[in-house]
Amino acid sequence: MSEGIVTIRPGREKPILQQHPWIFSGAIANARHAQPGDIVTVVAHTGEFLVRGYWNPRSQIQVRILTWQDEPINEDWWRRMLQRAINARYHRAQYNAGKRIINAENDFIPGLIVDRYGDFLVLQALTLYIDQNKAYLAQLLAELFETANMPIVGVYERSDVDVRGKEGLKHSTGLLWGEEPPDLVRIGSEKPIRLVDIRKGHKTGYYLDQIDNHAVLASLTSSHQYHAPVSRILNLFSYTGGFGLAVRGHVTNVDSSTEALALAQKTYQLNERPPDEAEFIQADAFEYLREAVARGDQFDVIVCDPPKFAHNKQQVERAARGYKDLNLHCFRLIRPGGYLMTFSCSGAISTDLFQKVVFGALADSGRQAQIIRHLGPSDGHPVALTFPEGAYLKGLLLQVY
Ligand code: SAH
Repeated sequence: MSEGIVTIRPGREKPILQQHPWIFSGAIANARHAQPGDIVTVVAHTGEFLVRGYWNPRSQIQVRILTWQDEPINEDWWRRMLQRAINARYHRAQYNAGKRIINAENDFIPGLIVDRYGDFLVLQALTLYIDQNKAYLAQLLAELFETANMPIVGVYERSDVDVRGKEGLKHSTGLLWGEEPPDLVRIGSEKPIRLVDIRKGHKTGYYLDQIDNHAVLASLTSSHQYHAPVSRILNLFSYTGGFGLAVRGHVTNVDSSTEALALAQKTYQLNERPPDEAEFIQADAFEYLREAVARGDQFDVIVCDPPKFAHNKQQVERAARGYKDLNLHCFRLIRPGGYLMTFSCSGAISTDLFQKVVFGALADSGRQAQIIRHLGPSDGHPVALTFPEGAYLKGLLLQVY
């Protein structure tokens, strides 16, 4: 069987040569001998080799590039790429902690997300080719972790994300390799221990991209340099309480999800936190903020970590208004000298734009603020320099007067 060939239109090679991993349908002149989900060789209109990747004519992103070298995509290639990603993580992490192992395009493996929680891997297949090969990849990952002396017990699939629709795929979940995970997996070996619901939790079970920022908050509130007698903390969009658990003081966790808050409460109990240290409020964060401002509440620290507001470029303006509104209310609720840790996880909102929006909110609030730190995603979530779309999570730690 001959390998499929995709020919690029004249003058459309530039982004490919600049190592952007996506080839859109508009750049493609024709595709020959290829079936959806096949590996294809991509050539210039002159016939010259450009790259090799996988093909799906259903998607606007018709080709996702796997290599810029003229090399076969075979078992050896997969072993090398997966091993490289594993090596990049585990020289600096305990393996029973939660960790992203494969960050898709950002690890030069488009369409594949793999997270490790304790003895389990969770795999998310975002594209047709990865979907067709997921059982093989699960098996290979298990073998590589076994060889590295960090064995896993099971690989569970959480491909229940709507973007799969663009590839002609439905949601898919279930065991891919090994044993079923327990209802809750514990991650971390020191307190706070976190509980992860691999089957039903958000994303692959946890917002691993925020774990390092939980630690930033912990060091902020325990450090003398910030003179922070932190007593009241507002954790907006708390999910299972990650930011709140990182600090001592009285934490108000607010989230719209009852399940997330129930797991947050369980996690507090597991970590033997005194019951009066935290409250768990099921509410719409926007409404909660308006009421808190009306009551005249004040907090020493506010964390504001909303879900993605802009899913594409068309939604940027509306999303910016949402971020501004949220941050304006947060500024009004911070006691002078307190801190705001504020985030956006919208890929379509750039770091610059986010900063401008937060400053707009600040100006309207009449307060003063300083940037203490720029924040990004945790270790294990690298961003490929050639893939700006990968820089979705950005945040600011501000001190507010
Ligand atoms: N800060 C969390 C992750 C937050 S993800 C952590 O570090 O783990 C965003 C959270 O916002 C989700 O838990 C979701 O349930 C919640 N959410 C979404 N819309 C909301 C709304 N309008 N009001 C309150 N919470 C909301």
